[in-house]
Amino acid sequence: MKQTVSSKNSQAAHCSECGAEISQLPTVVEFDRQEIHVFDPVFCASCLLSLCERYAVECANCGGKIPPYSQVGVLKTEMGASQFVHMTTACSTAGSAFHGYWGKGTLGEFVQVEAC
Ligand SMILES: [Zn+2]
Ligand SMILES: [Zn+2]
Repeated sequence: MKQTVSSKNSQAAHCSECGAEISQLPTVVEFDRQEIHVFDPVFCASCLLSLCERYAVECANCGGKIPPYSQVGVLKTEMGASQFVHMTTACSTAGSAFHGYWGKGTLGEFVQVEAC
């Protein structure tokens, strides 16, 4: 009989998409020339990469891809729509009043930055 209980102090994590065991966290993939580190939720590299391909949004500033599970700057346009920019000094301008956490095609923890 195979003993599968791990008594080591490494936390055994499983990909929440395909169930593959993850030996190391965060999962790191390279997408659109950016390194993406995801701790939570847990994905294996190939699932994370396919999520990136499905749910990435275009940066309104540089036109590059913003992968899911990363911080985004949010710009409100005059029409009330939202545009997203990278949370980098190059892309996140002083005009962006919001930032949030881009998830699976939707904005997670949405935080308004008070400009007082
Ligand atoms: Zn997976
Ligand atoms: Zn950008």
